[in-house]
Amino acid sequence: MIKKDLFDNESPVFMGSKREINNCSIGIFGVNYDGTCSFKPGARFGPDSIRKVSQCLETYCPKLKKDLEDINYVDLGSLNINSLESSNVINKVKLATNYLLKKNLTPLILGGEHSITRGVIEALIEKYPNLILVQLDAHADLRASYMGNKHSHACTMKRCLEILPEKKILQIGIRSGTKEEFKFMIDNNQLINFRTGENGKEFSKALSPYKNYPIYLTIDLDWFDPSLLSGTGTPEPGGFFWNDFEVILEKLKTFDIVGSDIVELSPEIDGSDVSSVVAAKVLRSLIMTVNNMQYNVYTSKVEK
Ligand code: MN
Ligand code: MN
Repeated sequence: MIKKDLFDNESPVFMGSKREINNCSIGIFGVNYDGTCSFKPGARFGPDSIRKVSQCLETYCPKLKKDLEDINYVDLGSLNINSLESSNVINKVKLATNYLLKKNLTPLILGGEHSITRGVIEALIEKYPNLILVQLDAHADLRASYMGNKHSHACTMKRCLEILPEKKILQIGIRSGTKEEFKFMIDNNQLINFRTGENGKEFSKALSPYKNYPIYLTIDLDWFDPSLLSGTGTPEPGGFFWNDFEVILEKLKTFDIVGSDIVELSPEIDGSDVSSVVAAKVLRSLIMTVNNMQYNVYTSKVEK
């Protein structure tokens, strides 16, 4: 049974997702929230747009050689949000993530905007104290505060860093931020150089000490180039393409990804729906990748 007060499960489901938790190892939920968007809002329509266009995707991925039909995943619907105040939304995201963890579901969260990641991390570090973060984003998101809100999407990595015991974030291919944000990333060795078309050598190197660590992957879709994915609130030229995403996944698939989010899709900006299709394919890839480690390999190790 899915907790009714947490999720509104009237939305369509992602691809062939179940609505029942039984026998599932992956749980998806949406957060229809864009209260802190600094430029163009609309990310609150992201989760349902991903679900809607997902019907055009095949269940088989020739690259990962996996079929969604062999994986049990549940789409619990979108979070019931009764207050648009960002700290309340973040708290609700934490409650929902805790609920999934208790049910032994690997959480995959659909934004909404990037501020929601803090709520997921608050829940995850209770289970995985040595969690590290991998961020795909055009922006550093390391501001202390933005437009008077310390929970703005422009501050989300800063808010996560504050609570991560390991203080480790690998920020891949960030191309926009303040002078201070870039100095901070470089001083702390957390800016991973990555250029479109390359093979991700520097990312491999940065990732290699974390073989036995639980990893959370946060994907701000504006990491992709606006020519591929224009449906996002703060587009940034000079971004990445589908092959680049495959390079990143190829590196990550032998690591222990214990959760992920896909944020900042603003579907109404892109009338062609291509942005939503790209986001849906990212989610399909994640379902196939987080399941790769059989999930409980890590937990059984620490809980013994
Ligand atoms: Mn961004
Ligand atoms: Mn972001």
